[in-house]
Amino acid sequence: MTKKLNEWYYDGGRIPRKIKKKVLDRKPTRKVLRKMLSETVVGEPIKTMFERVTFSPHGDFCPKCGETSYIGSGNKTDYPEHWESFRCLRCRTIVGYIDNSPFIHALECKDNDYNPVF
Ligand SMILES: [Zn+2]
Repeated sequence: MTKKLNEWYYDGGRIPRKIKKKVLDRKPTRKVLRKMLSETVVGEPIKTMFERVTFSPHGDFCPKCGETSYIGSGNKTDYPEHWESFRCLRCRTIVGYIDNSPFIHALECKDNDYNPVF
């Protein structure tokens, strides 16, 4: 990865469209995204922060833009505490959250406007 791409990956900011297109999949249209959200079924609850809830039939994706890749911030506090947020690689919405708890994905938080932070 180039330095610029690396910066974008970890900090956000702008990269040329052409490169972004190569890194990310095509963005679903609003209509497709709405359909994906309405079809999503949340799987069994998880017990540890190393597991991930499964979502069918589309898997986990960003509720705002449909992107499936996200990046963790790393633990923001000291062991044995664990506090971490995960952002969508495309639009930087927070899609996952750990606060001394199992991983919470935004898709589980339909009642909270898909915001896992509360
Ligand atoms: Zn997104």
